Amino acid sequence: MRYLILSDIHANLQALEAALASAEGKYDEAVCLGDVAGYGADPCAVIEWTRKHVKQIVRGNHDKACAGLDDLEWFNPVAKASALWTRGLLPPADAAYLRELPRGPQRIGDFDILHGSPADEDEYLITLQDAAFAAPHVRAKVSFFGHTHVQGGFLLHRNGIKRLGRMKSDAASLELTLEPDSGYLVNPGSVGQPRDGDPRAAYAIYAPGERLVTYCRVPYDVAGAQKKIRAAGLPPLLADRLAEGV
Ligand code: ZN
Repeated sequence: MRYLILSDIHANLQALEAALASAEGKYDEAVCLGDVAGYGADPCAVIEWTRKHVKQIVRGNHDKACAGLDDLEWFNPVAKASALWTRGLLPPADAAYLRELPRGPQRIGDFDILHGSPADEDEYLITLQDAAFAAPHVRAKVSFFGHTHVQGGFLLHRNGIKRLGRMKSDAASLELTLEPDSGYLVNPGSVGQPRDGDPRAAYAIYAPGERLVTYCRVPYDVAGAQKKIRAAGLPPLLADRLAEGV
């Protein structure tokens, strides 16, 4: 069994299509770590694809916001504007789908999927210290998380915690072989709004039988996604940042 691990698609249809085209034939089942909606201009098309093709999913903070489960008190003005725009657009069935998404962590076979941290679905795992605080809550040898939009993650070993390797900007993939005596918090990166300085869409493939995670990056039609965001009247920053991957 090989899994396509998608996270933080954020209503970016151009990025999702490029990721799916590049992953075609390399996986058996798609899973999603949340934030299907919010920020981007194509929530309906992205939710439609997710409803049809993703069996295992956890909710993200933007899914909750777009479904009306969050009062947006802690959202910044740009995130709030996009959540309200999305709320106004979603048909009832799509809103209901987002509202009913399960909270992470969720177990699939021998691994967990979650949005933020194993302790709190809305918490960010950014620093080694964040990972150290989260470590006692980790339940599986491999946990996939998102939320930060930064591809990589952390290796948990009895001797300490290390950051997992970063892919070079001219590479399309990076393989990570899982060692039996370590635990892993793996972030596939964001499909639709990368924030690690690489504007390409990010995802990962996990092959448990081979103990192999493959991080992937693929260029997509950034200009097309930007055009739709601007035409929708969403905050222009949401279009601008896609070009830099920040
Ligand atoms: Zn997100």
